[in-house]
Amino acid sequence: MKKIILICLCLLLTTTGCNKKEIKTEINEDKHIAINYPVTGINVLDDAISTYVNKTCNNFKKEYKSYNKPELNISYTYKELNNNIINVSLNTEINADKKINKIKTFTYDKKTKKFLSMEDIVQDLDMLDYNLKKELLEKYKEADMDFLSNISYDYFTIDDKNLTIYLGPNILKDTNEQIIFLDIPLDSLKLLIDIDKANNQDNYINIKKKNINYDDKIVALTFDDGPSKYTNKILDILKNNDACATFFVIGNKVNFYNETLNRMIKEGSEIGNHSYNHKWLNRLSETEFKEEINKTQEIVKNITGFTPKLFRPTYGGYSDKLKSYTDLTFVLWDVDSSDWKVKTENKILKNIIPNTKDGSIILMHDNHEYSLKALEAVIKELKEKDYKFVTVSELLEIKKIRENE
Ligand code: ZN
Repeated sequence: MKKIILICLCLLLTTTGCNKKEIKTEINEDKHIAINYPVTGINVLDDAISTYVNKTCNNFKKEYKSYNKPELNISYTYKELNNNIINVSLNTEINADKKINKIKTFTYDKKTKKFLSMEDIVQDLDMLDYNLKKELLEKYKEADMDFLSNISYDYFTIDDKNLTIYLGPNILKDTNEQIIFLDIPLDSLKLLIDIDKANNQDNYINIKKKNINYDDKIVALTFDDGPSKYTNKILDILKNNDACATFFVIGNKVNFYNETLNRMIKEGSEIGNHSYNHKWLNRLSETEFKEEINKTQEIVKNITGFTPKLFRPTYGGYSDKLKSYTDLTFVLWDVDSSDWKVKTENKILKNIIPNTKDGSIILMHDNHEYSLKALEAVIKELKEKDYKFVTVSELLEIKKIRENE
């Protein structure tokens, strides 16, 4: 028996080992060099990345030999689009007598097995020029527009919302060592590649916009059983404190709160599904269960244009069988405010603050005023402990990325 388990374990290790992406870290303590870059398992991409890294590293060693404690730091970002297009950007920072930043991007299409250039992605480059200049002038009033007359689109990444273009240095007169980036919305461009719009619609992940780093302490506030007359006030508090939440709504109620639902999406919060009538799910047949879910999916989509991706089972109860009936991700919680039971601000705080850790999901309710009363204090105390607020989808995404690192 033992032997069989051991063999299974070995097989598991070897199969996962082959496919798994890894992040390579090379640190030279003496020379103040720290390099991190992804290994994707795609040979041509990995070769291109390591060639660039080696070249940068060798040049650094040569060029900065005579400087006092020069430092080289290469970091990366990694993004996949539609499971097909891989974006890797390498950010090089050299600290010697001054600071120098460089960027290099790789955009690789797994389907065609080719690196993509801007000509492969955008049909109308004039339109891109126009949008880029408009964005640039809006974001940086001091931009040197002469530079833009012969711009090249060598450095960019693409996700399901934006084409991000990296420019510089020398494009800004004052801070000419800085790399700047501009997000051009895909909606404003004619594209030559397929972006999965269904996915796009469901995407609430806005980590970059919210200025969240993957190693920040994160927490997700969740509100069940709404919307209600208190939900707008909760949204006010979230907005005033630069926070967000995930609202697991009961489908039969949402028609009365169209505006509230639209606010959730617009203000960076997320909507999840909490069934249509809040029935005890384990008692339902497959058809009844699917109806409870689908009716809520449909009504939220009709109002907001967004389709929920997350499901919170009523009373926190479900079976694997129920789970297999839907593609939605089941989301429970690890911190229970018990707001409906304890009712006072102090007791709600006591249930939440000491029990919250990095990556926690906090359960509250927006169908009565107890959590509303405590919310301001909850946010304040969590902020004092350096927590950043994310939606549940963002939290799951960050956890996934951390696991891969
Ligand atoms: Zn509930």
